[in-house]
Amino acid sequence: MDSSIDEAAAQPGGAGRTPPATPLPTPDPAMPAATEPAGKAAPGTVPAPATGDAGEERSAVAPTSLSPSRASDFMQCPLLYRFRVIDRLPEKPSEAATRGTLVHAVLERLFDAPAGERTAPRAKALIPGQWDRLRESRPEVTELFADDPEGERLAGWLAEAERLVERWFSLEDPTRLEPAERELFVEAELESGLRLRGIIDRVDVAPTGEVRIVDYKTGKAPRPEYAEGALFQMKFYALVVWRLKRVVPRRLQLVYLGSGDVLTYDPVLADLERVERKLHALWEAIEQATRSGDWRPRPTKLCGWCDHQAHCPEFGGTPPPYPLPVTAPGAGTV
Ligand code: SF4
Repeated sequence: MDSSIDEAAAQPGGAGRTPPATPLPTPDPAMPAATEPAGKAAPGTVPAPATGDAGEERSAVAPTSLSPSRASDFMQCPLLYRFRVIDRLPEKPSEAATRGTLVHAVLERLFDAPAGERTAPRAKALIPGQWDRLRESRPEVTELFADDPEGERLAGWLAEAERLVERWFSLEDPTRLEPAERELFVEAELESGLRLRGIIDRVDVAPTGEVRIVDYKTGKAPRPEYAEGALFQMKFYALVVWRLKRVVPRRLQLVYLGSGDVLTYDPVLADLERVERKLHALWEAIEQATRSGDWRPRPTKLCGWCDHQAHCPEFGGTPPPYPLPVTAPGAGTV
C-alpha cells in the first residue's frame, strides 16, 4: 500500500458522518485533464433496466448500459449475458456471493463509528444485524439454509464471514481512513451515448485531491497472469470517475480478504482510453447480438458455476424464445 495516500486519506474529525452529497472532489489542477474521444453513433435508446439483475418480473428490453459485471459476463459467454440481461432468468443465491454481500455491508457500516472505535470486535459484532437486514431485503437468501434446521452450516458460514472481516484489519487500518464515499453508485455517459454504471465499494480522497478507488473481494487474489482481468473492473470504475470528474484516480486497490492480499495499480490516462476503446468494441458486439438474436455459448470451466445449463445448448438445453425483435442484416425487423 502507498502509505502517502493512506496518510493523506485519513481525515480528522469525520467520525460518524454520513457520506457527503458531493461524491468526488473537484478536479485537481495537478491531475491530467480528459481529452475528448472520437464520437460514435449512439446506441439504442430503449429505457434501461435498473441493474440487469436476473429474476425480475419485467418485459424484456434491449440493454442500454454496461456495468463491469455484465461486461465480464459477455466476455465470458455471450449466451450467459443474454440469459442474465435480456431473459432475466432467475438465479439461485450462492453461499459465497451472499457472504460477500454480508461482509461488504459490515465493512461499509463500520465507518459509521468514530475512527478510534473501528476495531475488529466491533466489526464482527455488526455481522448478526447486517445478516438480519440482508434477509429482510432479500428473503430468497434464507433458502440457502432451509435444509439446515440445527443451524450448523449457518454457524460455519457466519464464522467464515467473521474470519474475512477480521483479516481486513491485517490489510488496512480503518482508524486511519475516512472514506469520501462508500458503496458509491456511479454512472457516466460517453460521447458515443454508451452509459457505464457501477457501484464502487470505497473512494478515498486525499487533501491534495488524489483519488483512490478501493474494492473488497471475499475470494482469493488471482495468480499474476490473471491480474489484468481482475483490474478490468477497477479500470472501468476509473474511466467512469474520469468521465464524471475529469480526474484520473491516483490508485486502484483490490483488497482480497480470502487470501489476505492487496493488489494495486496506478493508472494513467492511456489506460483509461484503452479501456474506453475496449468497452466500445464490446458494446458494438452486444448491440449486434441484440439485433440478430445470435448469442453464442462459449463453454469454459466456468460453466460449472453457471445456473443456466438447463437452457444452454452446450449442455443439451434449449434457450427460451428470444424475447426481442430480431433484425436480419440488410433487412427490416422480422
Ligand atoms: S453453461 Fe457455459 S456456455 Fe452455457 S450459458 Fe452458461 S456459461 Fe455459457
